[in-house]
Amino acid sequence: MSGPVMHVDLDAIEENARNIVGFCMERGISVTGVTKVTCGMPAVARALLRGGVTSIGESRLENVHRMRADGITAPFWLLRIPPLSEVEEIVTSVNISLNSEIGVIRALSATAEGRDLVHDIVLMVDLGDLREGLWPDDILPTVREIFELPGVRLRGLGTNLTCYGGVLPTVKNMRELTDHKKRVEDTFGRGLDILSGGNSSSLDLLRRGKMPPEVNNLRLGESLMLGRETAFQTLWPGARTDAFVLKAELIEVKDKPSVPVGETGLDAFGDKPVFEDKGPILRGILNIGREDVKVEGLTVLDEELSILGASSDHLLLDLSLRRNTMVVGDEIGFLPDYGALLTAMTSSYVCKEPHHSGKPVGKDRPVLELVGSAMDSIIPGTDRSIGEILEADLSILGSLSGVVRVGTGGRPASHSSVGRDLFLLGGGAGELLEYLEGGEEDRGSLGLVWLTSRPDDRFMMDCFGRPGLLAPGNTVVVGLREAGKIAHEIFESRRLGVYTMEDIDLLGLRQVMRQALHRAAAGTRGVVLRYDASVTDGGNEGLTRRETYLAMEIAFRSGLLRGVDLSGSLPPGDVAAAESLRRYAAAVLGRKILGYTGAL
Ligand SMILES: *Cc1c(COP(=O)(O)O)cnc(C)c1O
Repeated sequence: MSGPVMHVDLDAIEENARNIVGFCMERGISVTGVTKVTCGMPAVARALLRGGVTSIGESRLENVHRMRADGITAPFWLLRIPPLSEVEEIVTSVNISLNSEIGVIRALSATAEGRDLVHDIVLMVDLGDLREGLWPDDILPTVREIFELPGVRLRGLGTNLTCYGGVLPTVKNMRELTDHKKRVEDTFGRGLDILSGGNSSSLDLLRRGKMPPEVNNLRLGESLMLGRETAFQTLWPGARTDAFVLKAELIEVKDKPSVPVGETGLDAFGDKPVFEDKGPILRGILNIGREDVKVEGLTVLDEELSILGASSDHLLLDLSLRRNTMVVGDEIGFLPDYGALLTAMTSSYVCKEPHHSGKPVGKDRPVLELVGSAMDSIIPGTDRSIGEILEADLSILGSLSGVVRVGTGGRPASHSSVGRDLFLLGGGAGELLEYLEGGEEDRGSLGLVWLTSRPDDRFMMDCFGRPGLLAPGNTVVVGLREAGKIAHEIFESRRLGVYTMEDIDLLGLRQVMRQALHRAAAGTRGVVLRYDASVTDGGNEGLTRRETYLAMEIAFRSGLLRGVDLSGSLPPGDVAAAESLRRYAAAVLGRKILGYTGAL
């Protein structure tokens, strides 16, 4: 770890969503899950969607694009009222935008009309918080004009409170909001289907049963991420407050005075620091500072430690109560508040590490299915097929709960059930795709490490031509020597991870495989390894056999594998290739080179 790391527990976020969204749904309220505090992290959006939110709310188009590119197909709401200069992008990239300026709404309409689209809008009403929204007197004239605009459809009204002015949602102002909606409907004889009653600060009113029943949407961010409503910052019952933990490393631990020595002027930020003399204390310095996070918003997880202060790159701690246990190199964890979370997630210095706390990857592994016609190739000098030998190999590995073997050209009975691992040999890309499509729960939540010298365009199109199958951020190609036009375009536009042979020469295969697996696994439920035999060419320009074997071993040892596809790689009748493949297969399933005496 070279810098601070934000650990993002996707299961905690999903759990919070399930909890709070469930509560809202029972009261007739749908929830737009707001990802902006995480800088639009796709894995977080997926966790929210699994937890039941019906749409994703974002304030920035860059974040919307990132999530769309990552295969998220849910409706997007643009929360920040749109700038005139971006109407074009808005009508093509979000489903609903919140609005308050008739000039912008006119431009949205004209742009949408020009593209044969109708753009949905929610009109924001300012109930006194003094951020965005129409002042109530302007509602009817504005709505009158909106109803005449052909390119926009008014879906409803909304409000935003407790953001600038700190105005709390109350029975009174929520009643005003519902009255405005009723007045619009009565005046124009048209129904509005959305009444969006605010953000996480509206949850307290809802919990007390005081929310008017007409309110049917909330846009929730902080409560889902940090487990608290925001009117009074009270914990939400049963919600988790540890979804985000920021960790940094101790880079100095020393006994020093608690007060600076010498004449003092101003600190690095132009403030006059004040110190309490507690005598000598054990001071620690962490590799994190104001460049990374809003330090005032951090709470140390270990209650015995306290924050003394911070500069741009250093955070100072009092370690006196942990005198005998803290050493340089130790990691210290913090819980961030909203401001600290926002700054850390947007800082490029902070590494973001999504993970699943509840269901560790590979917990339910593995039932393997051996698939494909190559299984029936007879290994020379034996009377056994590759499938039979593999089956014997695998059963002595002891780590399997069962092996389903399918014979010649056979297709597996079902390899779509979630939690079942896949092992493909000599089948074809079709089976892998079918597997990736798998169960709803797993969709888009597997990473891919693809060992190939030249990715075939067809598979690239199948994987990335339609949304949701694989997250580009979790797809890494290793061993690339050339790329066709389509593959090249997909690399560029979707920003897949790519390691060329040159990278492998520079970094070494071990390092490349570790990085590739790490990236492919981040925030997923596991990794599928795909191997094309073309990547191994005895070391002329590609990998040597030894390196290939090593790549398989590293993949196995990572504990991240959920599927292996050695399918597209076996020329029919090439028995030597079949034998190499059998060795790679054994390695990727845990057979070490030592002790490999040849089961033949
Ligand atoms: C940020 C934002 C939200 C979500 O607010 P939380 O307090 O994080 O729930 C909702 N609506 C709008 C318009 C926002 O800008």
